[in-house]
Amino acid sequence: MTAQILDGTRISGEIREKIGEEVAALKAEHGFVPGLTVIQVGEVPESSAYVKMKEKAANKAGFLSRKINLPVDASEAELLDEIHRQNEHPDIDGILVQLPVPDEFDENKILSAVAIEKDVDGFNPYSVGMLSASKDRFIAPATPVGIMELIRRTGIDMKGKEAVVLGRSNIVGKPTAALLLKEHATVTICHSRTKDLPSVTSRADILVVAVGRELMVTSEYIKEGAVVIDVGVNYTEDEKKFKEVYLDFPDFIEKLEKKGYGYFGDVHYPQALKKASWITPVPGGVGPMTIASLLMNTVTLARRRRLGE
Ligand code: NDP
Repeated sequence: MTAQILDGTRISGEIREKIGEEVAALKAEHGFVPGLTVIQVGEVPESSAYVKMKEKAANKAGFLSRKINLPVDASEAELLDEIHRQNEHPDIDGILVQLPVPDEFDENKILSAVAIEKDVDGFNPYSVGMLSASKDRFIAPATPVGIMELIRRTGIDMKGKEAVVLGRSNIVGKPTAALLLKEHATVTICHSRTKDLPSVTSRADILVVAVGRELMVTSEYIKEGAVVIDVGVNYTEDEKKFKEVYLDFPDFIEKLEKKGYGYFGDVHYPQALKKASWITPVPGGVGPMTIASLLMNTVTLARRRRLGE
């Protein structure tokens, strides 16, 4: 079997275009555009890159987009003050605090400070509870929302299917499992203490991998015909290894040679391609969907807060 590719870049482009149209309609019919504030403390380069992407995407969709960069030595109280200001701001519908925050901050306290009706990332503990407990009106974190959209695009009926989520982080693994459960899949969550991983993951009709270990999921982890979603993004400059893995993918190698670096997924893509029915590439799979989902969540919150939907 040769898997079909779930092209996150293309799908996210389609979603973002639709959001752009919806924003124009909101402006014309109701006189507002959705507002998104991203707050970052300090300048962790990786975080800054993500913040920039989010800001750019929000601007492009026609949102009111604000970036608030607190200095690296800002206190927890200053961050909480800023969150409260955004909570009160009439033009802001979604607030996102870019993680990680400095180690000495109480992350739970910060995430709890974001007003529920503006919690675009779904990380406020109340939102986390709503995702587990409620049938609707919850806001799920952006990456899991994007993952679910990709699975939907395969056309697979998730009801009753065996779904295995490899990884149990609060950001990806657990919320993805909760969303799969809402779709009536039979869900198993695996982690670093799971015994004999391949025997569990190879039962999966839907396998979501969010581990952060390059190329860990090889052929023996995958059931013939499974839908495989690879969330992992693992930076590499190891040209020799990259060329060995992507021997039959000259365009991947060309990109690496041009940039001097590349990315491995958590899944061994060439092996998965031969066994799965659908597979997400890295990059260009889940990553672009995360941004599109953030925009979708912001529009949802704006419609609820301003139009009472
Ligand atoms: P975390 O590090 O928070 O969680 C990793 C999970 O994987 C943990 O539950 C851990 O288990 C489990 N794990 C680690 N090693 C093993 C192993 N050898 N066997 C089995 N399980 C293992 O990562 P995240 O969930 O935040 O991210 C996962 C990956 O997804 C990363 O590569 C990250 O960069 C990427 N990512 C991509 C996004 C995108 O938009 N494309 C967004 C977010 C993340 P335990 O709990 O027992 O420690």
